[in-house]
Amino acid sequence: MVAPVRFLVHYHEIGLKGKNRRHFEQLLAQRLRDALGPETVVRLLHGRLLVEPPERMAAEVQDRLARVFGVAYYARVRSTPVDFDEIAEAALELMAGYPGSFRVRAKRANKKLPFTSPEAEREIGARIVAASSRPVHLKGADVEVFVEFYQDEAWVYTSAQRNPGPGGLPVGSSGKVVVLISGGIDSPVAAWRMAKRGARPVYIHFHSYPHTSLDSLRKTVEELEVLARWHGPSRLYVVPLAGVQEKIFANCPERYRTLLYRRFMYRIAQRAAEREGAGALVTGDALGQVASQTLENLHAVEQAVRMTVLRPLIGMDKTEVIAEAQRIGTYETSIQPQQDCCSFLEPKHPATKSTPEQLERAESALNVPAMVEEAWKQAELRRIKLRN
Ligand code: ATP
Ligand code: MG
Repeated sequence: MVAPVRFLVHYHEIGLKGKNRRHFEQLLAQRLRDALGPETVVRLLHGRLLVEPPERMAAEVQDRLARVFGVAYYARVRSTPVDFDEIAEAALELMAGYPGSFRVRAKRANKKLPFTSPEAEREIGARIVAASSRPVHLKGADVEVFVEFYQDEAWVYTSAQRNPGPGGLPVGSSGKVVVLISGGIDSPVAAWRMAKRGARPVYIHFHSYPHTSLDSLRKTVEELEVLARWHGPSRLYVVPLAGVQEKIFANCPERYRTLLYRRFMYRIAQRAAEREGAGALVTGDALGQVASQTLENLHAVEQAVRMTVLRPLIGMDKTEVIAEAQRIGTYETSIQPQQDCCSFLEPKHPATKSTPEQLERAESALNVPAMVEEAWKQAELRRIKLRN
């Protein structure tokens, strides 16, 4: 009989206590089920999870586990009876392609076993030495052999089978956020970082059609399809901003134009957040990257809303953001050419240091609530599916 395919999934336990921990574990189990599909069994055990896919899905499941937030690391394991000879034999097979020194690390979830973990390590280690004459190094071993005892089984794997997960927290454990996504490089990375910390992102995109093309929307949808591979399906509000921009163009001082577009984006995003029950807005701003991203302007823009505005990229260099976008998989799409909706009628000399009072004055000729309402009425909701 072929042994069933099994992956052992570990999460970081720091700060997880009592009721919190159960909630976290159950949510992680659910996210694993969402990501791995109905044919894969996910079992919540003592402090870890066991994932059992059908044989033919082994490689795919291995690949997908690397993208489930909350997974600290995972390993394909061999299951043996609680028998030192059989455990050593399994370990030797798993170590075969990986030469050099080794050490054994044992953990017991079953505390009724008639040996301690150090005893198990010595017994198994001695058998591996006898069979292979490989040296034991307790510090800096080339290969680590992990043995986890659970009920009447031992799960065996080595550092060669152990892969890092993305870390973080299961999506949904930190509530919901509305991410302002432009189709550019930064905002998908900002969304990914929030999802990694357990926030469920709902997206909003603004376009200036017919003044600009709909390329930005097409790029945004493509980026969200990539992000779905990390956080699952999502919802995207698509909002035409041209009407708002025309009124700002006609009625407000040129130097504040970009900042006023932003204030309207935030206000409309706040409407989406109210509808969705989201706790914060998220942008891809990085300090000092462009004129609209100075401390003064970030502050003056966000006074337009009552909500927390989170900017997870605020302290990052562009090169760092690009490297992260490449790892996530959104980079290639994000660099395709597009006409930014804010480049539409961009001021020649944008204000680099504005105050909330200046922006309020600049908006005084506008009927702000009516404009927000009008744009929000035209919002279109799209569902982004997970395509594997
Ligand atoms: P990005 O690469 O995300 O476009 P950027 O460096 O080009 O960022 P800006 O264009 O100034 O910076 O935009 C700053 C942030 O404002 C974006 O990261 C995004 O969160 C939001 N934003 C800008 N344009 C739009 C848009 N058309 N739709 C939704 N959000 C937008
Ligand atoms: Mg941009």
